[in-house]
This record gives sequence, C-alpha cells and structure tokens, in this order.
Amino acid sequence: MRILLQFPEGLKQQALDHAESLEREGHEVFISSSPTYGACDLAIDEAKTIGAEKLVHFGHAEFHKIDFNVEYVHYKIDADLGVLKLSSAGLAPYQKLGICTTIQHIHQLDDIRNFYEKEGKEVFIGKPYGFAKQNGQILGCDIGSSASIDRHVDAHVYFGGGIFHPIGALLHTSKPFFMVDPFLKRVERIDRYREIYRKKSTGKIAAAINAKSFGILVSTKNGQFNMNLAKLLKEKIAKAGMKAEILVSNNVDFDAVNNMLCFDAFVNTACPRIGIDDIDRLRKPLLSANELIEVIKIKEEKK
Ligand code: SF4
Repeated sequence: MRILLQFPEGLKQQALDHAESLEREGHEVFISSSPTYGACDLAIDEAKTIGAEKLVHFGHAEFHKIDFNVEYVHYKIDADLGVLKLSSAGLAPYQKLGICTTIQHIHQLDDIRNFYEKEGKEVFIGKPYGFAKQNGQILGCDIGSSASIDRHVDAHVYFGGGIFHPIGALLHTSKPFFMVDPFLKRVERIDRYREIYRKKSTGKIAAAINAKSFGILVSTKNGQFNMNLAKLLKEKIAKAGMKAEILVSNNVDFDAVNNMLCFDAFVNTACPRIGIDDIDRLRKPLLSANELIEVIKIKEEKK
C-alpha cells in the first residue's frame, strides 16, 4: 500500500524509523515534511496528490471525521508523577480540584486523580466540547474539560509540559489555575496570565477602532476551515460601512500577511490560538470574531 506519514514537529525525528518499519512490511512510504500543528491539519491534499491510499498521522487523536483513510497513532508519554507532591502545598487551600491534561498523558489521569483523592481532595474531570475526545483532555481549541467544571471546583490543575494548552483553558475559566509540569519538575500558578491576555485583547480592540478595511483570514486546513464564519463577518463589516476581503491560505504566513498593507486590521477565523498567541507577529491588529463584533459595536455607538 502507498502510505504518507505525517508527524508533528516534536516527533519528526522518529520519521525514518517508522518509515523503514513500514517499508519492511512491503509498503511504499512517503513522509510529509510540511509543518504540522494538530489533527486539525491533516496532510490529505499531499496524500491525494501522491496517490497514497492511507495517511498515518502520529501524535494527535482524531479531531473530526474525514472522508479519507486516516490512521491515528497516539503517542503516550508516561511522565513521572512524583512532581504531583510539589503541588500539595499550593493546593492546600482548595478542596475541589478540576484536573485536565493532553492526549499524551490522558492514560495517567486516573493515577493523578488517585493521588489527589488520597490527599483528601474531591476531584472533578470535565467533558470536552467535541474536538478533544476524552474526558479531561484539552486542546488549544477545546477547553471544555476545564470550562465545563469551572463552577464546581475551587481550583484547576493542568498536568503536562508547556504553557500552550493550559493558557486556552485558563482564559475560559475563572478559578485559580496550577500548571504541574513533569518535565521541568515544577508547579506554577498561572492565573496572572488572564489579566495579561485581557489587556492585550483590549489593546487590539482599541487599535482597530479606526480601521476602515479588514482582511479576514481563512485557513484551508481541514479542521480550521471556516468559510461560513468569514462570509458572515464580511457581511457584518460591510453593513457597518467598512471594507473587507477574505484572505485564503493553508498556513497563515505572517510575513505575507504583513505585506498586505491595504488592510488596516485582520480578523482570524482559523485556529483560535493564532489570535491569542501570534498577535505580536503582525504589524496590524489581529482580532478574533468576538473582538471584531466589539469593534463594530463601539464604532456604532460613536456615530
Ligand atoms: S489549537 Fe489550533 S492547532 Fe491545535 S488542534 Fe486546535 S485548531 Fe489545531
């Protein structure tokens, strides 16, 4: 069978081993060298172009149904749970804990729950909204596992490495938020970022108030494509007496977008994290759909 392999950046170093193993089984193997951000970003077009019958996507769980033969290979990490002890002092004031993690550690969630229950805590594990598939799992764009239990808990605990995943959950919850990182063997309370990101959002809205033309970013990645939203936003902008065009790309290239000097501001309809994490890479304000609505509302009130 002709197969295309796709790896996220952190697993690309394993590509040769996996390719050789499948070749020994008699398959014809190709490897995608494109950047890969998640299961929202399947290399279906590449697979079809080279005539592959199957795409093997490593490191991410299924994001949504795709009309192509895709095999998802999970990448489990058995992280050292000893780091949980370091969180005991900081979590002492909180009785009801919500816990969440990424797909790489989801198999460790029961052990994490047991640890905190032995410490006398009541543990809550929420349900994702849909892109993530397992209870307690969060993605940068699916923080349902934390948001759905926010009102029941006194504090949230994220288990895993890096700030990317917990930031999304943090911005959609209201309780103290702790990051327990088994790789750095560190526990950090991160809820100060809520205020930092709120101020950034307010700043973007203020910077876009005088904008007269908007570029609406649409990504053709299978799990990020949202042309309906882009068209709706274009209509709203036109109704408010301003100009808008829809800008289509697979990967949002910030240098290319920065060259579009004809637009005063941009609106993101692709991965929601682009409008949170990458705003400093654009010279003009990059708004989310909600921030655009706020800009239009403020403009209307000023009339
Ligand atoms: S956060 Fe963005 S990159 Fe990650 S899965 Fe969601 S849409 Fe894809």
